[in-house]
Amino acid sequence: MDVRNMTRRELSEYIAEHLSGPGEEEAREAKAERDRYYGNRIFIRGLIEFTNYCKNDCLYCGIRKSNKCASRYRLSKDEILGCVLQGRELGMNTFVLQGGEDMYYSDKQMCDIISAIKETAPGCAVTLSIGERSRESYKAYKDAGADRFLLRHETADEAHYSRLHPESMSLKNRMKCLYTLKELGYQAGAGFMVGSPYQTPDTLAEDIIFLRELEPHMVGIGPFIAHKDTPFRDMPNGTVGLTLTMLTLTRLALPRVLLPATTALATLDDMGREKAFNVGANVVMPNLSPPDSRNKYSLYDNKASSGDEAAEGLRHLSERIENAGYVVDMGRGDSKMNIENNGGNK
Ligand code: SAH
Repeated sequence: MDVRNMTRRELSEYIAEHLSGPGEEEAREAKAERDRYYGNRIFIRGLIEFTNYCKNDCLYCGIRKSNKCASRYRLSKDEILGCVLQGRELGMNTFVLQGGEDMYYSDKQMCDIISAIKETAPGCAVTLSIGERSRESYKAYKDAGADRFLLRHETADEAHYSRLHPESMSLKNRMKCLYTLKELGYQAGAGFMVGSPYQTPDTLAEDIIFLRELEPHMVGIGPFIAHKDTPFRDMPNGTVGLTLTMLTLTRLALPRVLLPATTALATLDDMGREKAFNVGANVVMPNLSPPDSRNKYSLYDNKASSGDEAAEGLRHLSERIENAGYVVDMGRGDSKMNIENNGGNK
Protein backbone atom coordinates (compact mmCIF):
# COMPACT_ATOMS: atom_id res chain seq x y z
CA MET A 1 0.00 0.00 0.00
CA ASP A 2 1.43 3.37 -1.03
CA VAL A 3 1.08 5.30 2.22
CA ARG A 4 3.51 7.92 0.97
CA ASN A 5 0.97 9.08 -1.57
CA MET A 6 -2.38 8.45 0.10
CA THR A 7 -4.68 11.42 0.51
CA ARG A 8 -6.00 12.59 3.87
CA ARG A 9 -9.31 11.01 3.03
CA GLU A 10 -7.83 7.67 2.00
CA LEU A 11 -5.76 7.57 5.17
CA SER A 12 -8.76 8.38 7.32
CA GLU A 13 -10.84 5.68 5.65
CA TYR A 14 -8.11 3.09 6.07
CA ILE A 15 -7.80 3.97 9.75
CA ALA A 16 -11.57 3.86 10.31
CA GLU A 17 -11.66 0.41 8.74
CA HIS A 18 -8.68 -0.88 10.76
CA LEU A 19 -9.44 0.15 14.32
CA SER A 20 -8.61 -3.31 15.59
CA GLY A 21 -5.38 -3.87 13.67
CA PRO A 22 -3.72 -3.45 10.29
CA GLY A 23 -4.51 -5.63 7.31
CA GLU A 24 -2.30 -8.70 7.04
CA GLU A 25 -0.67 -7.57 3.86
CA GLU A 26 0.10 -4.06 5.13
CA ALA A 27 1.57 -5.53 8.32
CA ARG A 28 3.82 -7.79 6.23
CA GLU A 29 4.90 -4.90 4.04
CA ALA A 30 5.71 -2.75 7.06
CA LYS A 31 7.85 -5.48 8.54
CA ALA A 32 9.63 -5.97 5.21
CA GLU A 33 10.38 -2.24 4.95
CA ARG A 34 11.96 -2.26 8.42
CA ASP A 35 14.02 -5.32 7.43
CA ARG A 36 15.10 -3.66 4.21
CA TYR A 37 16.76 -0.75 6.00
CA TYR A 38 17.63 -2.09 9.43
CA GLY A 39 17.47 -5.85 9.14
CA ASN A 40 15.85 -7.80 11.96
CA ARG A 41 17.73 -5.90 14.67
CA ILE A 42 16.09 -4.32 17.68
CA PHE A 43 17.94 -1.34 19.17
CA ILE A 44 18.15 -0.86 22.93
CA ARG A 45 18.08 2.60 24.58
CA GLY A 46 18.57 3.19 28.29
CA LEU A 47 15.84 5.49 29.58
CA ILE A 48 16.63 7.78 32.50
CA GLU A 49 13.59 9.61 33.86
CA PHE A 50 15.48 12.33 35.69
CA THR A 51 12.74 14.66 36.93
CA ASN A 52 8.98 14.54 37.30
CA TYR A 53 8.60 18.24 38.05
CA CYS A 54 6.75 19.94 35.21
CA LYS A 55 5.58 23.46 34.52
CA ASN A 56 3.01 22.27 32.00
CA ASP A 57 -0.48 21.01 32.61
CA CYS A 58 -1.23 18.56 29.77
CA LEU A 59 -4.64 17.14 30.61
CA TYR A 60 -3.64 13.51 30.02
CA CYS A 61 -0.36 13.42 31.88
CA GLY A 62 0.17 12.09 35.40
CA ILE A 63 3.07 14.45 36.12
CA ARG A 64 1.13 17.59 35.12
CA LYS A 65 1.70 20.61 37.32
CA SER A 66 -1.79 20.49 38.90
CA ASN A 67 -1.47 16.91 40.08
CA LYS A 68 -0.98 17.52 43.78
CA CYS A 69 -0.85 13.77 44.46
CA ALA A 70 2.36 13.30 42.47
CA SER A 71 5.37 12.85 44.69
CA ARG A 72 8.06 14.91 42.99
CA TYR A 73 11.73 14.05 42.59
CA ARG A 74 14.83 15.18 40.75
CA LEU A 75 17.99 13.21 40.09
CA SER A 76 21.33 14.90 40.71
CA LYS A 77 24.08 14.84 38.12
CA ASP A 78 25.82 12.07 40.08
CA GLU A 79 22.66 9.99 40.24
CA ILE A 80 22.20 10.38 36.48
CA LEU A 81 25.81 9.33 35.88
CA GLY A 82 25.21 6.34 38.13
CA CYS A 83 22.37 5.26 35.82
CA VAL A 84 24.63 5.74 32.81
CA LEU A 85 27.35 3.59 34.36
CA GLN A 86 24.84 0.87 35.12
CA GLY A 87 23.66 1.01 31.50
CA ARG A 88 27.20 0.92 30.21
CA GLU A 89 27.88 -2.23 32.21
CA LEU A 90 24.88 -3.76 30.50
CA GLY A 91 26.38 -2.76 27.15
CA MET A 92 24.11 0.17 26.30
CA ASN A 93 25.24 2.91 23.93
CA THR A 94 22.28 5.27 23.90
CA PHE A 95 20.98 7.14 26.90
CA VAL A 96 17.69 8.99 26.87
CA LEU A 97 17.22 11.75 29.41
CA GLN A 98 13.50 12.28 29.80
CA GLY A 99 11.65 14.53 32.17
CA GLY A 100 8.92 17.04 32.77
CA GLU A 101 9.58 20.63 31.72
CA ASP A 102 11.61 21.43 34.80
CA MET A 103 13.27 24.84 34.77
CA TYR A 104 15.32 23.86 37.82
CA TYR A 105 17.83 22.48 35.34
CA SER A 106 19.33 25.57 33.71
CA ASP A 107 20.89 25.36 30.24
CA LYS A 108 24.28 25.44 31.89
CA GLN A 109 23.39 22.49 34.11
CA MET A 110 21.90 20.52 31.23
CA CYS A 111 25.05 21.08 29.17
CA ASP A 112 27.18 20.03 32.12
CA ILE A 113 25.15 16.81 32.51
CA ILE A 114 25.28 16.07 28.76
CA SER A 115 29.05 16.49 28.52
CA ALA A 116 29.57 14.45 31.70
CA ILE A 117 27.54 11.58 30.19
CA LYS A 118 29.72 11.74 27.09
CA GLU A 119 32.84 11.53 29.25
CA THR A 120 31.46 8.69 31.35
CA ALA A 121 30.38 6.64 28.34
CA PRO A 122 32.63 7.60 25.41
CA GLY A 123 31.07 7.06 22.01
CA CYS A 124 27.52 6.83 23.31
CA ALA A 125 24.58 8.77 21.91
CA VAL A 126 22.66 11.16 24.17
CA THR A 127 18.97 11.69 23.51
CA LEU A 128 17.01 14.44 25.24
CA SER A 129 13.27 14.43 25.89
CA ILE A 130 12.68 17.54 27.95
CA GLY A 131 9.99 19.39 26.03
CA GLU A 132 9.84 22.80 24.41
CA ARG A 133 12.82 25.14 24.78
CA SER A 134 14.24 28.04 22.81
CA ARG A 135 16.39 27.59 19.75
CA GLU A 136 19.34 28.93 21.75
CA SER A 137 18.87 26.28 24.42
CA TYR A 138 18.56 23.48 21.86
CA LYS A 139 21.72 24.79 20.18
CA ALA A 140 23.60 24.85 23.48
CA TYR A 141 22.65 21.21 24.25
CA LYS A 142 23.71 20.19 20.76
CA ASP A 143 27.07 21.91 21.20
CA ALA A 144 27.47 20.14 24.54
CA GLY A 145 27.13 16.82 22.72
CA ALA A 146 23.43 15.90 22.57
CA ASP A 147 22.69 13.84 19.46
CA ARG A 148 18.95 13.28 19.40
CA PHE A 149 15.73 14.79 20.73
CA LEU A 150 12.31 13.25 21.29
CA LEU A 151 9.38 15.63 21.24
CA ARG A 152 6.07 14.01 20.38
CA HIS A 153 3.76 16.42 18.59
CA GLU A 154 0.89 14.58 20.39
CA THR A 155 -1.65 15.37 17.64
CA ALA A 156 -1.27 17.29 14.38
CA ASP A 157 -4.82 18.63 14.52
CA GLU A 158 -5.07 22.15 15.94
CA ALA A 159 -8.54 21.75 17.51
CA HIS A 160 -7.67 18.35 18.95
CA TYR A 161 -4.41 19.69 20.36
CA SER A 162 -6.27 22.42 22.22
CA ARG A 163 -8.54 19.88 23.90
CA LEU A 164 -5.55 17.98 25.27
CA HIS A 165 -3.51 20.94 26.45
CA PRO A 166 -3.98 24.16 28.42
CA GLU A 167 -4.28 27.44 26.51
CA SER A 168 -0.69 28.33 27.30
CA MET A 169 0.52 25.57 24.96
CA SER A 170 0.28 25.59 21.17
CA LEU A 171 0.69 23.04 18.42
CA LYS A 172 2.40 25.72 16.34
CA ASN A 173 5.19 26.10 18.82
CA ARG A 174 5.60 22.35 19.25
CA MET A 175 5.89 21.88 15.50
CA LYS A 176 8.28 24.80 15.25
CA CYS A 177 10.48 23.18 17.90
CA LEU A 178 10.59 19.98 15.83
CA TYR A 179 11.70 21.82 12.69
CA THR A 180 14.29 23.75 14.72
CA LEU A 181 15.69 20.53 16.18
CA LYS A 182 16.09 19.08 12.70
CA GLU A 183 17.74 22.25 11.43
CA LEU A 184 20.22 22.15 14.30
CA GLY A 185 21.29 18.67 13.21
CA TYR A 186 19.54 16.57 15.84
CA GLN A 187 18.04 13.22 14.96
CA ALA A 188 14.53 14.30 15.89
CA GLY A 189 11.60 12.25 17.11
CA ALA A 190 7.94 13.21 16.81
CA GLY A 191 4.98 11.06 17.78
CA PHE A 192 1.54 10.81 19.30
CA MET A 193 -0.75 8.84 21.57
CA VAL A 194 -3.34 6.54 20.05
CA GLY A 195 -6.84 6.72 21.49
CA SER A 196 -6.36 10.03 23.26
CA PRO A 197 -9.68 11.70 24.13
CA TYR A 198 -11.46 13.33 21.16
CA GLN A 199 -9.14 11.67 18.63
CA THR A 200 -10.77 10.54 15.36
CA PRO A 201 -9.61 8.76 12.18
CA ASP A 202 -9.36 12.25 10.67
CA THR A 203 -6.97 13.53 13.32
CA LEU A 204 -4.89 10.35 13.00
CA ALA A 205 -4.75 10.85 9.23
CA GLU A 206 -3.46 14.35 9.96
CA ASP A 207 -0.71 12.81 12.10
CA ILE A 208 0.50 10.73 9.15
CA ILE A 209 0.35 13.75 6.84
CA PHE A 210 2.42 15.76 9.31
CA LEU A 211 4.97 12.96 9.72
CA ARG A 212 5.36 12.72 5.95
CA GLU A 213 6.06 16.44 5.85
CA LEU A 214 8.42 16.65 8.82
CA GLU A 215 10.30 13.44 8.03
CA PRO A 216 11.49 12.85 11.58
CA HIS A 217 14.19 10.28 12.31
CA MET A 218 12.11 8.66 15.05
CA VAL A 219 8.41 8.37 15.86
CA GLY A 220 7.06 7.42 19.30
CA ILE A 221 3.58 5.93 19.19
CA GLY A 222 1.79 4.45 22.19
CA PRO A 223 -1.77 4.05 23.41
CA PHE A 224 -3.28 6.70 25.70
CA ILE A 225 -3.76 5.24 29.18
CA ALA A 226 -5.88 7.16 31.70
CA HIS A 227 -4.21 8.39 34.88
CA LYS A 228 -6.41 8.55 37.94
CA ASP A 229 -5.23 11.99 39.08
CA THR A 230 -5.86 13.82 35.81
CA PRO A 231 -9.00 15.34 34.23
CA PHE A 232 -9.02 12.39 31.80
CA ARG A 233 -9.30 9.80 34.59
CA ASP A 234 -12.57 8.37 33.24
CA MET A 235 -11.65 8.39 29.57
CA PRO A 236 -11.25 5.03 27.83
CA ASN A 237 -7.74 3.81 27.08
CA GLY A 238 -6.39 3.51 23.57
CA THR A 239 -6.27 0.04 22.06
CA VAL A 240 -3.47 -2.24 21.02
CA GLY A 241 -5.08 -2.89 17.63
CA LEU A 242 -5.30 0.73 16.55
CA THR A 243 -1.78 1.37 17.86
CA LEU A 244 -0.52 -1.44 15.59
CA THR A 245 -2.40 0.06 12.65
CA MET A 246 -0.72 3.43 13.25
CA LEU A 247 2.71 1.82 13.64
CA THR A 248 2.15 0.06 10.30
CA LEU A 249 1.14 3.27 8.51
CA THR A 250 4.08 5.14 10.00
CA ARG A 251 6.60 2.51 8.92
CA LEU A 252 5.13 2.52 5.41
CA ALA A 253 5.11 6.34 5.24
CA LEU A 254 8.69 6.63 6.54
CA PRO A 255 10.51 3.37 5.76
CA ARG A 256 13.76 4.45 7.42
CA VAL A 257 12.28 5.73 10.65
CA LEU A 258 13.32 4.37 14.06
CA LEU A 259 10.12 3.15 15.65
CA PRO A 260 9.94 2.14 19.31
CA ALA A 261 7.72 -0.55 20.74
CA THR A 262 6.62 1.70 23.59
CA THR A 263 6.24 1.03 27.29
CA ALA A 264 2.59 2.11 27.10
CA LEU A 265 1.91 -0.63 24.55
CA ALA A 266 3.69 -3.20 26.73
CA THR A 267 1.60 -1.97 29.66
CA LEU A 268 -1.68 -2.78 27.88
CA ASP A 269 -0.56 -6.09 26.40
CA ASP A 270 2.06 -8.50 27.64
CA MET A 271 2.86 -9.38 24.02
CA GLY A 272 2.64 -5.72 22.91
CA ARG A 273 6.29 -5.40 22.08
CA GLU A 274 6.40 -8.54 19.94
CA LYS A 275 3.27 -7.42 18.11
CA ALA A 276 4.91 -4.06 17.42
CA PHE A 277 8.10 -5.70 16.06
CA ASN A 278 5.93 -7.66 13.68
CA VAL A 279 4.59 -4.46 12.09
CA GLY A 280 7.97 -2.73 11.79
CA ALA A 281 8.96 -1.42 15.23
CA ASN A 282 12.70 -1.72 15.97
CA VAL A 283 13.54 0.03 19.23
CA VAL A 284 12.93 -0.68 22.92
CA MET A 285 13.74 1.64 25.77
CA PRO A 286 14.24 -0.21 29.06
CA ASN A 287 14.19 1.89 32.19
CA LEU A 288 17.46 2.77 33.93
CA SER A 289 15.97 5.13 36.49
CA PRO A 290 16.50 4.25 40.16
CA PRO A 291 13.62 2.01 41.34
CA ASP A 292 12.29 4.63 43.72
CA SER A 293 11.98 7.30 40.98
CA ARG A 294 10.42 4.82 38.59
CA ASN A 295 7.20 4.56 40.54
CA LYS A 296 7.03 8.32 40.80
CA TYR A 297 7.46 8.91 37.08
CA SER A 298 3.85 7.96 36.65
CA LEU A 299 2.61 9.31 33.33
CA TYR A 300 -0.35 6.91 33.35
CA ASP A 301 -1.80 4.19 35.60
CA ASN A 302 0.00 0.84 35.97
CA LYS A 303 2.98 1.97 33.89
CA ALA A 304 5.25 -1.02 33.39
CA SER A 305 8.51 -0.35 35.20
CA SER A 306 9.72 -3.64 36.54
CA GLY A 307 10.46 -6.94 34.84
CA ASP A 308 11.23 -6.44 31.20
CA GLU A 309 10.99 -2.67 31.41
CA ALA A 310 13.76 -2.53 33.98
CA ALA A 311 17.41 -2.70 33.07
CA GLU A 312 17.76 -5.69 35.40
CA GLY A 313 15.34 -7.41 33.11
CA LEU A 314 17.52 -6.76 30.09
CA ARG A 315 18.49 -10.39 29.84
CA HIS A 316 14.89 -11.51 29.91
CA LEU A 317 13.99 -8.82 27.40
CA SER A 318 16.83 -9.98 25.14
CA GLU A 319 15.59 -13.55 25.35
CA ARG A 320 12.13 -12.46 24.34
CA ILE A 321 13.47 -10.44 21.43
CA GLU A 322 15.45 -13.45 20.24
CA ASN A 323 12.55 -15.84 20.74
CA ALA A 324 10.47 -13.58 18.54
CA GLY A 325 13.06 -14.03 15.80
CA TYR A 326 15.00 -10.78 16.19
CA VAL A 327 18.55 -9.83 17.10
CA VAL A 328 19.38 -7.46 19.95
CA ASP A 329 21.57 -4.56 18.82
CA MET A 330 23.29 -2.66 21.63
CA GLY A 331 25.08 -0.23 19.29
CA ARG A 332 24.23 3.45 18.99
CA GLY A 333 21.64 2.57 16.40
CA ASP A 334 21.71 5.83 14.47
CA SER A 335 18.97 6.68 12.03
CA LYS A 336 19.44 5.74 8.38
CA MET A 337 17.17 8.57 7.36
CA ASN A 338 19.80 10.54 5.47
CA ILE A 339 21.57 7.60 3.93
CA GLU A 340 20.56 6.90 0.38
CA ASN A 341 19.29 3.43 -0.20
CA ASN A 342 21.47 1.47 -2.54
CA GLY A 343 19.82 -1.85 -2.16
CA GLY A 344 19.56 -1.96 1.60
CA ASN A 345 21.85 -0.69 4.34
CA LYS A 346 22.49 -3.61 6.56
N1 SAH B 1 8.09 16.65 28.94
C1 SAH B 1 8.57 15.87 27.82
C2 SAH B 1 8.35 14.39 28.02
C3 SAH B 1 6.90 14.02 28.15
S1 SAH B 1 6.55 12.39 28.75
C4 SAH B 1 7.89 16.38 26.56
O1 SAH B 1 7.12 17.34 26.64
O2 SAH B 1 8.17 15.88 25.49
C5 SAH B 1 6.68 11.45 27.26
C6 SAH B 1 5.38 11.12 26.55
O3 SAH B 1 4.51 10.36 27.36
C7 SAH B 1 4.52 12.30 26.13
O4 SAH B 1 5.01 12.90 24.97
C8 SAH B 1 3.14 11.65 25.94
O5 SAH B 1 2.87 11.36 24.58
C9 SAH B 1 3.24 10.37 26.77
N2 SAH B 1 2.17 10.34 27.79
C10 SAH B 1 1.90 11.27 28.73
N3 SAH B 1 0.78 10.94 29.42
C11 SAH B 1 0.34 9.78 28.88
C12 SAH B 1 -0.80 8.94 29.14
N4 SAH B 1 -1.69 9.23 30.06
N5 SAH B 1 -0.93 7.81 28.39
C13 SAH B 1 -0.03 7.49 27.44
N6 SAH B 1 1.03 8.25 27.16
C14 SAH B 1 1.22 9.38 27.86
